[in-house]
Amino acid sequence: MRELELDIKSMSLPELKQIMEELKDKPFRAKQLYEWLHQKRVWSYEEMTNLSKALREKLSHEYPLKPIEMIQMQTSKIDGTQKYLFRLRDGNVIESVLMKYKHGNSVCISSQAGCRMGCRFCASTLDGLARNLLPSEMLEQIYRIQEISGERVSNIVIMGSGEPLDNYDNVLRFLKMVSDDMGICISQRNITMSTCGLVPRILQLAEEQLQITLALSLHAPDNEKRQELMPIAKKYTLDQVIDACQYYFQKTGRRLTFEYSLVGGVNDSAEDARQLSGLLKGLNCHVNLIPVNPIKERNYRQSDRQVIDNFKIKLEKYGINVTIRREMGSDIDGACGQLRKRYMEETESEKIK
Ligand code: SAH
Repeated sequence: MRELELDIKSMSLPELKQIMEELKDKPFRAKQLYEWLHQKRVWSYEEMTNLSKALREKLSHEYPLKPIEMIQMQTSKIDGTQKYLFRLRDGNVIESVLMKYKHGNSVCISSQAGCRMGCRFCASTLDGLARNLLPSEMLEQIYRIQEISGERVSNIVIMGSGEPLDNYDNVLRFLKMVSDDMGICISQRNITMSTCGLVPRILQLAEEQLQITLALSLHAPDNEKRQELMPIAKKYTLDQVIDACQYYFQKTGRRLTFEYSLVGGVNDSAEDARQLSGLLKGLNCHVNLIPVNPIKERNYRQSDRQVIDNFKIKLEKYGINVTIRREMGSDIDGACGQLRKRYMEETESEKIK
């Protein structure tokens, strides 16, 4: 991909060494450049004071830096969660979230602008996929948030807009770079990647020798219900998905997370809980229940609090580890893709006016 070839912030150290060779400069300059980009995290070549002026000029000519820019930020009055809207070099818009927990700060990043998976309750997918994000664009969401908020980021969840395994190569490169000790150095054990379940990609990921946590979006205890909520379930059955997760666990030793968005009257009955526990029997896993965040384009509603609590108790009775996801930033367009979508609608109607 030509885009990637020119994107210096997505390059590994050996690749930067090659560039130095092409530019007829010393190989050790590559390490200096990498540190400026990923450890000191400056945004322009001018700031890289230990590189010669001539080299900085050549670099800005051949490999211009075009970082993402923040265009909006909202802070929740309830829990301090911050939602960021960023503009990419080509005008596309993405969102990311900073969540503050007792154990550290977590950033939720987007892996694509939009999404093509079509999950029925999700706002990110309503307008389809615009494009994949480059590794640098995923890194920069974290760099920008850490700089703007002044908070150290210790955890990453890839749970914003997009299906990370549908952008496999770029996400993999991002994972390696973000955990590299020459960069921002966030431990892979503090990174969770959520997928709707692209089976061949899960199997591939299991071979990469990473230590990240895999979170699988389950959302239903049987194929029929899952197909209603998630089109991808027509391609891969629950058995195939669970087997792939099991394989990921065998290869990495990382405990699995299953996400289950509770949709009122759709997947929240006692029978659903019973079936779900049967499905997960014997797996080393943890279930994260997410009260569905209703979007205006669909008429899904949240389960009542009592129903959510009963669902949890039922799973626990069957010996399953469960948490109910605390709703963060519910006053600031909480659900994935809502803020981006609203921003795009507003700017569209501005254009028409
Ligand atoms: N493509 C990845 C990441 C998506 S976002 C995946 O499918 O896992 C992370 C989680 O939020 C997923 O489990 C997704 O299904 C869920 N989600 C998306 N929109 C939601 C909504 N409106 N309410 C509750 N959960 C939602």
